[in-house]
Amino acid sequence: MTRDWIDDEYERRQRGVTRGLLQSQHGAVNARYPGCTLEYCCECGLPTGRTGAGDDSLVTEDGGPYCEECWMDLPEEVRA
Ligand SMILES: [Zn+2]
Repeated sequence: MTRDWIDDEYERRQRGVTRGLLQSQHGAVNARYPGCTLEYCCECGLPTGRTGAGDDSLVTEDGGPYCEECWMDLPEEVRA
């Protein structure tokens, strides 16, 4: 199989490197490597819709990642 950007993305993420992707790109990567670009909320366990530090994950100093809904439930002072 010819190596393409999906394989590159998978390898990057294996090394812990993340970056923002379009929803269509997430779909393509996860179709080949199930769950590869999914990030789950530490609070409710649902996919956060974001994928790591390179994609604006919602994290606090001592917790996270959070989904948008749980994030909004946090006190304002921890959402720095
Ligand atoms: Zn949540």
